[in-house]
Amino acid sequence: MKFNYDVLVIGGGHAGCEAACASANMGARTCLVTMDMNKIAQMSCNPAIGGIAKGQIVREIDALGGQMGLVTDATAIQFRMLNVGKGPAMWSPRAQCDRGKFIWEWRRHLDETANLDIWQDQADELLTEAIPASQESEARVRAIGVRTIWGAELYAKCIVVTAGTFLNGLMHIGRRMVAGGRIAEPAVEHFTESITRHGVTSARMKTGTPVRIDKRSIHFEDMEEQPGEQRQYQFSYMNRKGALAQLPCWTVNTNAEVHEVLRSGLADSPLYNGQIQSIGPRYCPSIETKLVTFAERDKHPLFLEPEGEDTNEMYLNGFSSSLPMAVQIEALKRIPAFRDVRVYRPGYAIEYDFFDPTQLHHSLESKIIDCLFMAGQVNGTTGYEEAGGQGTLAGINAALRAGSTNNEQPFILHRDEAYIGVLIDDLVTKGVDEPYRMFTSRAEYRILLRQDDADSRLTEKAYQLGLAKRDRYDWWKEKQKHIEEIEEFCYNFPIKPRLINSTLEALGTTPLQYGCKLADLVSRPQLNLSNLSEAVPQLKEVINRPTNRKAEIAEAAEIRMKYKGYIEREKMVAEKMHRLENIKIKGAFDYATLQSLSTEARQKLMKIQPETLAQASRIPGVSPSDINVLLVLMGR
Ligand SMILES: Cc1cc2nc3c(=O)[nH]c(=O)nc-3n(C[C@H](O)[C@H](O)[C@H](O)COP(=O)(O)OP(=O)(O)OC[C@H]3O[C@@H](n4cnc5c(N)ncnc54)[C@H](O)[C@@H]3O)c2cc1C
Repeated sequence: MKFNYDVLVIGGGHAGCEAACASANMGARTCLVTMDMNKIAQMSCNPAIGGIAKGQIVREIDALGGQMGLVTDATAIQFRMLNVGKGPAMWSPRAQCDRGKFIWEWRRHLDETANLDIWQDQADELLTEAIPASQESEARVRAIGVRTIWGAELYAKCIVVTAGTFLNGLMHIGRRMVAGGRIAEPAVEHFTESITRHGVTSARMKTGTPVRIDKRSIHFEDMEEQPGEQRQYQFSYMNRKGALAQLPCWTVNTNAEVHEVLRSGLADSPLYNGQIQSIGPRYCPSIETKLVTFAERDKHPLFLEPEGEDTNEMYLNGFSSSLPMAVQIEALKRIPAFRDVRVYRPGYAIEYDFFDPTQLHHSLESKIIDCLFMAGQVNGTTGYEEAGGQGTLAGINAALRAGSTNNEQPFILHRDEAYIGVLIDDLVTKGVDEPYRMFTSRAEYRILLRQDDADSRLTEKAYQLGLAKRDRYDWWKEKQKHIEEIEEFCYNFPIKPRLINSTLEALGTTPLQYGCKLADLVSRPQLNLSNLSEAVPQLKEVINRPTNRKAEIAEAAEIRMKYKGYIEREKMVAEKMHRLENIKIKGAFDYATLQSLSTEARQKLMKIQPETLAQASRIPGVSPSDINVLLVLMGR
């Protein structure tokens, strides 16, 4: 059997689903090839979306017209806005989701997407063709399709590989090892080699997941309840209210006895007996790693999270482990709340192949194999959101490359435009030596990359691309108009001391001596549009102008006014960096001959071949003096 498409997406995980929807929504005839259609966007580990910096990525995916935010809103069973005690640059939405319903909601989105087919099978071999050398370029290789384990051949103008943890996946529990891409799912054995034989480099990484517990065996009276928030936040700017009941999570601590049992198993731990050689995520350590790294601590917090509305399965966050199963269960029983615990399955670790992301362009197309795009865990990242963000960009760029629109330029997000831009720039410029997860600290323009304003950064661009649809664009325009009305009112409305001073004193802030504009008061920490509108009825009227999204609009306007100075300063710095970003150096130098560069810089520049001077400046090992050398040579 042979099939022809514009774009093929291999793997229906978080990267693959976003890539497939983005590509199809941009008009490319797309096929998603995935091993199990009933495990679409399976959350391999924690059934939660978002969190610090990750929540911002989900908002960006949504602002671009992606699906992760919508699916999360529809299946959330607990929503929290993290970091609200800090400035708005740090606010990060996070939602606990119903794992099963998340899968089926994603399936519904895929099923309802025009131009998108699904083929349930395993891609076994990347099919390529040689492009002979010409006057403009050397001989190259182009990806043209895949052959599956059942012998189907699917051809396309572009292929997006999003195979997650499945490539040569090897699972570990104690000394036992089983080949698999995820618990109860097969590993993919040949696909890596069909890519690396062309010169793409692969290496190994590792991750792990905790035990799943039967709710009926838990003594909840010995745990502390952690309720969700009253205020209903949401991920999507499209305002679809969540449908599911909100459920609590629970917290409890480990203790010295638990640690003693865990330590007794260390000799059989694949992490410590040499069985696992590859590097895992430093920021999601296993419980045994925590014991070894923080030997002085006599307790570690654990979070018990429901896996869904109608299931007894619970996820024990913080207890990731690949110790022998008897050790894991015995240790759990030493926690009073789990004295009678019954588990569905123990925690396990998994090792898998990933590909060196410095061999990718910013469009996520391979520098080695034309028309091959890669996204998600296969690029050395970890996390559903990181995968979804890359998938969105890879899907967009594959559709563009396949000629589905008149736009021939790749779609690239810069570091001051989106966390997705930071993520991809870090991957292709710096590479990875451990599973990469996003943190706010990785972004230099944090105040420009807030969760509240992803639509203002991205929706217009996505609409121009054809990805964001008219309803999303119209809503953004309407929101923008209301925000500007509120701002204009506040910047122009004069406030007299005698009308406001009693309110200011009651709110614990200094009374006015002279009149000022309302916006001057908004910037005070004790004040906000809500408490000011109680004293200024005209403001209340502006905020309440007919719209069904008053709270969201007022919050956006308030943040823009309160942080105006910071926002403008960061924009200025970003603007300066854009000047370096505009200096294209790709192909301008034969780095091997530039003796005035340091050896390390020469090697890194030869390997990465940066597009711009700004990208060169971000490569680890390329110093400011190396950049000066390039600037001087360009001047000549
Ligand atoms: C045990 C475990 C623990 C984890 N723990 C954490 C954690 O603590 N923190 C964290 O942030 N992340 C964790 N992750 C990682 C997280 O699950 C991934 O980052 C995320 O799922 C990546 O999304 P993806 O789309 O790249 O890949 P995946 O979600 O893995 O999806 C890959 C998809 O591709 C399909 N596929 C693969 N190969 C083929 C092929 N050849 N043909 C057809 N279909 C194919 C698979 O069936 C699957 O649907 C863990 C993953 C695992 C397995």
